[in-house]
Amino acid sequence: MTRTAGYVGRFAPSPTGPLHFGSLVACLASYLDARASAGTWLLRMEDVDTSRCRSAYAEDILATLRAFAFDWDGTVRVQSRQGASYHAALQRLAERQLTFACSCTRREIADSSIAGSDGPIYPGTCRQRQPGEAGNAVRLRVPDEMICFVDRTQGRICQNLASDVGDFVLLRRDGLVAYQLAVVVDDADQGVTDVVRGADLLDSTARQICLQRALGLPTPTYLHLPVATNDVGQKLSKQTLAPALSPAAASSLLVRALAFLGQSIVPGLEQRPPAEVLAEATGHWNPAAIPRLRSCHIQ
Ligand code: GLU
Repeated sequence: MTRTAGYVGRFAPSPTGPLHFGSLVACLASYLDARASAGTWLLRMEDVDTSRCRSAYAEDILATLRAFAFDWDGTVRVQSRQGASYHAALQRLAERQLTFACSCTRREIADSSIAGSDGPIYPGTCRQRQPGEAGNAVRLRVPDEMICFVDRTQGRICQNLASDVGDFVLLRRDGLVAYQLAVVVDDADQGVTDVVRGADLLDSTARQICLQRALGLPTPTYLHLPVATNDVGQKLSKQTLAPALSPAAASSLLVRALAFLGQSIVPGLEQRPPAEVLAEATGHWNPAAIPRLRSCHIQ
């Protein structure tokens, strides 16, 4: 099945710890969706937050992906080496008068704002300032309008950034580029046509579409997967002590991830090597069978 001519997908882990079952679900779905569309599948290390990322984790992630037989195309893009592209995008936004410098502390914002979908809504304190004052954060001036998109699994999603998030940070006060900017610049630079990732990032998507429009970049198609949760309903993560993927159990973990994604599984699949599991799953990939949920408990 070829859904899109020239499909380009990607898996973009942050090397803040080893991969866990939740990461495997996102990796597997993005891989299968790309390969079933005869597309390209890229790998990107999202290590832009150097305070949380470690190169040892990046090495460990690559070794795990190899053990699970994921074969990415081309070289791995590493965000910490892409600073010049992010700063060029910031410059373009500044020239279009779309950004401003912000010296507010977290405390000042918390004291004068109401809660939004992702923390306090920025109250607009520094909105009239210009960008480019060193030592300050840089924020995007968001439009007061609905941003809508149709997610392949979650359906139509709309968000007004002005009333739900506020002007958001593109460059932090400590000089680190924010995830929202890095992901938009990289997806466009790498020609990504289809983003398949966890529904924990659904709330970031309107911000990313807003940035794409501000920068004159195309908007990819989105598919947000249910997020895997543990027995007490928490998202699997390093913080919730999700166990690292064991390469020795690669095939059975791949089969569990396929079941999580609602895919049909031929008997005895977990006895076969990971490369065969992936080939079989590619042939049977059915994105319409993915549960239309934002989160799902793992069995
Ligand atoms: N780096 C992000 C994460 O590990 C994923 C970003 C994305 O897929 O857009 O959660």
